[in-house]
Amino acid sequence: MSTDATRSPLSVVLAPSPGVRNAQEGQRGVAMAVLAADATEREVRSLVESLRTRGLDANAYEVGQGVLLLHDVRVDEAEEALTGQPAVERVSLPGTRYRLARRDAVPSGSVVRVGGVPFGSEYLPVIAGPCAVESRDQILTIARATASAGASLLRGGAFKPRTSPYDFQGLELLGLELLDEARDITGLPIVTEVMSPGMIEPMYGMVDAFQVGSRNMQNYELLKALADIDKPVLLKRGFAATVDEWLLAAEYLLAGGNEAVILCERGIRAFAQRTRFTLDLASVALAKRETHLPVIVDPSHATGDRSLVAPMALAAVAAGADGIMVEVHNDPRRALSDGQQALRPAELSELLDQLEDVGAAVGRRVLRGPLVLGGAQLR
Ligand code: PEP
Ligand code: MN
Repeated sequence: MSTDATRSPLSVVLAPSPGVRNAQEGQRGVAMAVLAADATEREVRSLVESLRTRGLDANAYEVGQGVLLLHDVRVDEAEEALTGQPAVERVSLPGTRYRLARRDAVPSGSVVRVGGVPFGSEYLPVIAGPCAVESRDQILTIARATASAGASLLRGGAFKPRTSPYDFQGLELLGLELLDEARDITGLPIVTEVMSPGMIEPMYGMVDAFQVGSRNMQNYELLKALADIDKPVLLKRGFAATVDEWLLAAEYLLAGGNEAVILCERGIRAFAQRTRFTLDLASVALAKRETHLPVIVDPSHATGDRSLVAPMALAAVAAGADGIMVEVHNDPRRALSDGQQALRPAELSELLDQLEDVGAAVGRRVLRGPLVLGGAQLR
């Protein structure tokens, strides 16, 4: 289902309307219809038009096999208008503020591909690389080591959100060019952070997935701009964000037209003093239950301690995570940021082997390298 013309501005899409449970006649709320898998674009468009002609606020979205939302409608009227339509598979009344992100929009779960690497399938991809791109030599050395350890994607910040303005802020555009070179050499797709809407365009050609950092999860201008592009977004959880706020941030991307969203739990602020943050694995399981989007875990920022990265990565996979993101450095003591939490390349290899064992226990296979080629990358 592809219906660009049926999308409306975000302000309309997210107009407040209370979720409804046990709807009764006359009550107003939201109605959600999962479209029939075989509905054609023309059928969907004509359904949307006929609903609008009846004065209903209808919008169709390319989520899963297609989803239609009716906002702020009388639910009995919406049910009557949608039930029995050939283009509609089933109708529900979502009782949450996030709608397109709801698991019942895509009950089997969405698979999001980054440069061909699937997230949300039986495979478990590992994203690895330095906190920041520091130099040509550093990123190429780490990229080669990351590829030979068997990771599927390369991470590395070119623009760094640092707590102190005196800390290393990243190599910026030069950093991106170096990541691009590392991709050419290793074949690993690139995941890197974007901090402002104005940087999306210059970064676009050099990035396979745009990372939204924890500090920017509620930067709604950034989310709206990323909703408008056709590249996947790795949405890190704000370290003080509730699960609902996290899923509503994802909803901005989905409602604005970008359905390629991967969630990443990276630790929340609690009272821990010996770890950098508190890894909230219950919320990973909760997010997996509540949404169809893939959920991955970053145990590096969550713990801030190299020796805790592997145990938390293993626990994350056991809890149902769809992938792992870890920081790796060839010389952690000299790293310009986050050296204390960086694995050495040999430790990354060891972690991949351990993940395979835990993955097998929960029916997942660690993806080795960036491609799924008839199992060739799998051990
Ligand atoms: C990062 O992954 O590079 C990063 C800065 O992490 P976070 O946004 O989770 O702090
Ligand atoms: Mn870091």
